[in-house]
Parts: sequence; C-alpha cells; structure tokens
Amino acid sequence: EAATLSRIGLAGLAVMGQNLALNIAEKGFPISVYNRTTSKVDETLDRAHNEGQLPLTGHYTPRDFVLSIQKPRSVIILVKAGAPVDQTIAALAAHMEPGDTIIDGGNEWYENTERRIVEAADKGLLYLGMGVSGGEEGARNGPSLMPGGSFEAYNNIKDIVAKVAAQVEDGPCVTYIGEGGSGNFVKMVHNGIEYGDMQLISEAYDVLKNVGGLSNDELAEIFDEWNRGELESFLIEITADIFKVKDEHGEGWLVDKILDKTGMKGTGKWTVQQAAELSVAAPTIAASLDCRYLSGLKDEREAAAKVLSDAGLKEEVGSVRSGIDKKRLIDDVRQALYASKICSYAQGMNLLRAKSVEKNWNLNFGELARIWKGGCIIRAVFLDRIKKAYQRNPNLASLVVDPDFAKEMVQRQAAWRRVVGLAISAGISTPGMCASLAYFDTYRRARLPANLVQAQRDLFGAHTYERVDREGAFHTEWTKLA
Ligand code: NAP
Repeated sequence: EAATLSRIGLAGLAVMGQNLALNIAEKGFPISVYNRTTSKVDETLDRAHNEGQLPLTGHYTPRDFVLSIQKPRSVIILVKAGAPVDQTIAALAAHMEPGDTIIDGGNEWYENTERRIVEAADKGLLYLGMGVSGGEEGARNGPSLMPGGSFEAYNNIKDIVAKVAAQVEDGPCVTYIGEGGSGNFVKMVHNGIEYGDMQLISEAYDVLKNVGGLSNDELAEIFDEWNRGELESFLIEITADIFKVKDEHGEGWLVDKILDKTGMKGTGKWTVQQAAELSVAAPTIAASLDCRYLSGLKDEREAAAKVLSDAGLKEEVGSVRSGIDKKRLIDDVRQALYASKICSYAQGMNLLRAKSVEKNWNLNFGELARIWKGGCIIRAVFLDRIKKAYQRNPNLASLVVDPDFAKEMVQRQAAWRRVVGLAISAGISTPGMCASLAYFDTYRRARLPANLVQAQRDLFGAHTYERVDREGAFHTEWTKLA
C-alpha cells in the first residue's frame, strides 16, 4: 500500500491549482489532488492523462485525499483567499496528523497566515504561506515561489519546489523567505511593484501614441526592440505582442477596442496601505493604484471631458506633437521608463525592509531579486542588477544610491525630465513617471522646504521645531514677532 501513496497533495483545482499540480507531477513527484467541486478533479485527471500520463491521482473526499499522501504529509491549498482557506484547512486538518504540513499558495493577507500558523501549531501541524507568481503559464511551467513560515515545513518540500519553480542561471526561483507571513507579504509587494511596472508601461504607450503619434505597428516594433535591451522583461515582451493582435470582431487592433477601465483584486491596495502604516514613501505604486481607481470612473471622466471642453479647455497635444522629433522621443521615453522603474523598485524594496525590521524577518533582498528573475510577472533582466546591488551592500539605504543605479539615473535624468515636461505641456497625464521623478528629486535634495511646514506647525499648534545650528526643541510666538 505504502508504495502507492503520493509524495504531496494539492487541494483547490482552479486555474492555479490545476496547473501547479500538473507541473509537480511532471517533475516526477506523485501527487494527489482534490477540489470541493469534484468535476474539477476529473478535469485535472483528464489533463494529467492527456499531458503525458503524469503521476497524479484524484480524490473525492478530504479524508481519501489526505490518507493518500505519504507521511509526514504536505498539502498545498490553492483556493480563493480568506474564508475559503479556513474552510479548506478545517476540512483537511480533521484527517491530518502532528508533523504534517499545510501550504497555502494563495494571495493571502499575511496576518491571516500568521493566525493560521498559530492555529495549526495547536494541532501539531506545520504551516507555510507561499506566494506563487506567474499566473497560469508560470504555475504550469515554472512559477516564482515565495514560501514563508515554518522552516521545517520548507525543508519537507524543498526538493519539490526547487524542481517545480522557474529555473534561471543562478538557481531555481524559490528560497525560504522568512518566518510568519513573510512569504505572503513579499508576494504582496511583488504585486505592488507589478502595478507600478504596468502603469509606467501604459504611460510610455500613452506618450508614444498621443504625443509621438506612433501607430500600433510602430509600438509593437519599439517594444520588441526595448525587449532586447535594458528593459528586457516579461511585461515589455507581452506588451509588444498585444500591439500585434488585430480585432476579430471588426476593423483595426484589439487593444484599441478594450474599455479603459482597470480591474484589481486587492494586493496593490494592501501594498499602499502597508507603505502608509510603515511610513515608507511609495508614490509610484500609490500613483498606479490611484490610476486604477480613476480609470474605473469612466462615465465621470467622459462627463468631465465634456464639461471642461465646454468651459474652454483646449487640447494642447496637437501643437506639442507638431514639434516632435519622433526618434528622439522614443529614445527619451525608453530612458524615462527605465529611470522611473528604478524608483518604483526602490520604494518596494524599502517597504520590504521596513517590514522586515518590524517583524524581525531578516529578509535577504538580493535573494528576493534573484527569485523574481524568472517565473513571475515582474521577471526582468534588470532584477539581476538589483540582486547585485544588494550583494554589494546588503544595508543599501535605497537602490537610488547604489553606485551603478545612481550613475544610470544621472545619465537618464535629462531624457526623463524632457518626457515628463512634454507630457505635462501636452496634457497627457504620466502620474507614475511624475511620482518617480518627484521621489528622486525629493530624496536626492539635501534641503527641502520642510522647514516651512515645521514653522507652520509650530505657529498654529506649538508643535516645536529643531534648528540647523543648535540642539534642542524650539517654540516661537510667531504672531507676536510677525
Ligand atoms: P480562485 O478563482 O481564486 O478560486 C477558485 C478555487 O477556490 C476553486 O477551487 C474553488 O472551489 C475554491 N473555493 C472557493 N471557495 C471555497 C470554499 N468555501 N471552500 C473550498 N473551496 C473553495 O482560483 P485561482 O485563480 O486558481 O487562484 C487561487 C489562489 O491563487 C488565489 O488566492 C489567487 O489570488 C492566487 N493567485 C492567482 C493567480 C492567477 O493568475 N489566477 C496568480 C497568482 C496567485 P470550487 O471549484 O468548489 O468552487
């Protein structure tokens, strides 16, 4: 009987679960699968059969499923985050034994994972919250995996995740992240950074299309070209592909027929909330989130366009476009995008650092950059540079002041300012690029106008201020002296 037991189990066979289970089976680890709605078990069995007789067995009750796995058991759960995870754990844990491991692979709020670690420990169970990135394709062929929680639990599945994860030249895209909910937190920030990247790319598109007058054919060509240089990344690659797709239902390109209203599931919002909680500036990521909110107000935006046009607002984009050197604009936008991206990653990494200090997670930023080099949505050549920056200096205050990145930003700042300036004159909003540039300019300036804010606070609230030339807290009766 023992010979027929599976090495691992996976419960929750929607997009992610089904594909990850097939990936695990394909790597030679016999796997048991289960889903609340049993038709998905049959679907997965069919796929396992059709994709090469993979070693996968289907089970129709939590009990049969759990008992089909060899001890100590490891069970991955991939269901909707929140209550469904608690319900699934309850159903499975009833049949599990001390020493067994539960691994939640969903986009879970990290504090839920921390609560479940404690609840699992009460039953003698080990627990991991494992961020999984890469969508459907990544899950099937190699995702980036961010497991956090019990180190012992990680060791139980280390051989499996090392084979299942995406492989890059410096190893598999998985590492033990840290204790508690660190795996989920790191995945959350990954998603926040992803919001920033997507926003910045959409701004580059907006400027090239509306200020530069580029066609979709030209955009496809430019993004393909960019994908062979410093911007080489999954998101640039798929963007090029998007510009090549014609509309099946009519004339022209599909991208032009898509409603300009962004969906979202919450990890970007959590990232910005956490940045605020930890007093970390993350303006590029926040701007991306704000843009998603504003994009959702499609009807209001259409109404506003009309009100302001009736009020006499003139579109300036035509006159700006007429003076454009297209080739130079394209090159400038590439540089602006790259420099803006550095600032966005600096914000994400600094948020991780603040949380790591608060929670004593001891995060290894070089390793995080490394496991994001493959499998995940933000995978990019650029992440190798981030890895190296943190290897050079694990206590780097900001990516902006890493000597290599500092040089790159200085080289690109003229182009960056030209793009933002042009966009502002043309009335084309570039909130992500502007936020990144303002972040850079604020961070790099030794003296800010915060002296005036302190004076105001002291005047109206007697909040006191410090001086540049002597120690101590000072208060002034401003109105008596004015
Ligand atoms: P999903 O749509 O988030 O969830 C569907 C799955 O959850 C189904 O298996 C469903 O079972 C199960 N489920 C829902 N409520 C349940 C309950 N009360 N009890 C038991 N099972 C329940 O699936 P997904 O898109 O594959 O994502 C899974 C997780 O991975 C999520 O946390 C998601 O955020 C994360 N993730 C998704 C992606 C992606 O690209 N889709 C990428 C990275 C991470 P039934 O079939 O019985 O309804």
